[in-house]
Amino acid sequence: MERYSAWRLFREALNGHRGWTPAWRSPSPKRRYDAVIIGGGGHGLATAYYLAKNHGMTNVAVVERGWLGGGNTGRNTTIVRSNYYHRESARLYDFSVRLYESLSRELNYNVMFSQRGVITLAHSRHDLEVVARWAGAAQLHGVDAEMVSVDEIKRRIPLLDTSPSARFPVWGGLMQRRGGTARHDAVAWGYARAASRLGVDIIQNCEVTGFSRNERGRVVGVETSLGPIAAGVVGLAVAGHSTVLADLAGFRLPVTSYALQAFVSEPLKPVMDTVMLSLATGAYISQSDKGGLVIGGGLDLYPSYAQRGNLPTAQRVIGALADQMPALGRVRLLRQWAGIVDVVPDSSPILGETPVEGLFINCGWGTGGFKAIPAGGTLLAHHLATGEPHPLAEPFGLRRFATGALIDEAAASGIAH
Ligand SMILES: Cc1cc2nc3c(=O)[nH]c(=O)nc-3n(C[C@H](O)[C@H](O)[C@H](O)COP(=O)(O)OP(=O)(O)OC[C@H]3O[C@@H](n4cnc5c(N)ncnc54)[C@H](O)[C@@H]3O)c2cc1C
Repeated sequence: MERYSAWRLFREALNGHRGWTPAWRSPSPKRRYDAVIIGGGGHGLATAYYLAKNHGMTNVAVVERGWLGGGNTGRNTTIVRSNYYHRESARLYDFSVRLYESLSRELNYNVMFSQRGVITLAHSRHDLEVVARWAGAAQLHGVDAEMVSVDEIKRRIPLLDTSPSARFPVWGGLMQRRGGTARHDAVAWGYARAASRLGVDIIQNCEVTGFSRNERGRVVGVETSLGPIAAGVVGLAVAGHSTVLADLAGFRLPVTSYALQAFVSEPLKPVMDTVMLSLATGAYISQSDKGGLVIGGGLDLYPSYAQRGNLPTAQRVIGALADQMPALGRVRLLRQWAGIVDVVPDSSPILGETPVEGLFINCGWGTGGFKAIPAGGTLLAHHLATGEPHPLAEPFGLRRFATGALIDEAAASGIAH
């Protein structure tokens, strides 16, 4: 597979772009792999890439029931940050941000990682106390996070209504300068291409419908819509469908699936060069390189697998933003959609072993797992290849729901995107 470069682009431009080959191979499934990863989202694809790259395991398949990135990875609003409250989370997400910083070069694929800063707004004295505590904790964990004044916020986000009479008055905020955005489908495609280049088989339109077990109950393969595939180990990275697959494997997960919506406006000239989140409304906004305003907010109110989302939630999110940025009131929305996210009671991921031997899991990222794709892939690959949890993944095992050692990020920082 060819390397992408400026020279290659130039040569193809002269040639009418007729020389490009597919970014990844699409083989028929083999009868057996050393590892099968279920789910061709960012986490599944990254797991396959790091299995091959970090552990030399190349007899690996990623099995995706639809198309690559067609789940939450291609539906999210692409915020990347690591200013989490608890030490375990800050270490995990900061590891991920560091991997993002060199990802385009590593994958030879431009994932458009843009460290434009992420600002979380505080709207009351209480909010300000929350962000002060939060900034202090992040700094103790070695993560760049700082409190910013109203003047600084006003300078960075001129569209924001910061007047004392605003519906949501701004008291200050928290900023992570190394935070930002990345192009979501480029992350999926970049990992797919790099994994395929190392020998991983990417199999789309192949749904896993069951698990094959040996006489001891260990998982030894998967049943799929394209037939059975034997596997040394199996990794599960299916986000909102984790409980469906766990059910097929015969165990339960503390995960509930909800729709999370997003919206994109018509393209505008540059009006915002940072990411803004509001603690009061949960709404957030950034501007894509194409000019569209990328908008999101809270979860829909009841569990569902319908990837549409409900109008009252859409109204709440858009209404909140129109209150905060009145100048956007006449901007037209171009598209709206939803993804099915996997919500865990403590808003932290579930990583590692399952109660079924031979089956390992990566799920529970809920509304905030895009930023964790490089880390999530590294950690699941480590566990699959070595049989031991990576030290960063250790606190996030399923066991914490029995021991009570929860890592409650939603309660700790008030927001989980
Ligand atoms: C609207 C929205 C906004 C978001 N905003 C952000 C954000 O700003 N920042 C952030 O960090 N995170 C965000 N997230 C969360 C983030 O998108 C997810 O946590 C992350 O993409 C999960 O990646 P994944 O690879 O685990 O899952 P997915 O990308 O969902 O991939 C799972 C794959 O598994 C496949 N699958 C399911 N069942 C089967 C089966 N039986 N057989 C084979 N394949 C199967 C699915 O088709 C899917 O492609 C957002 C999510 C949504 C929906």
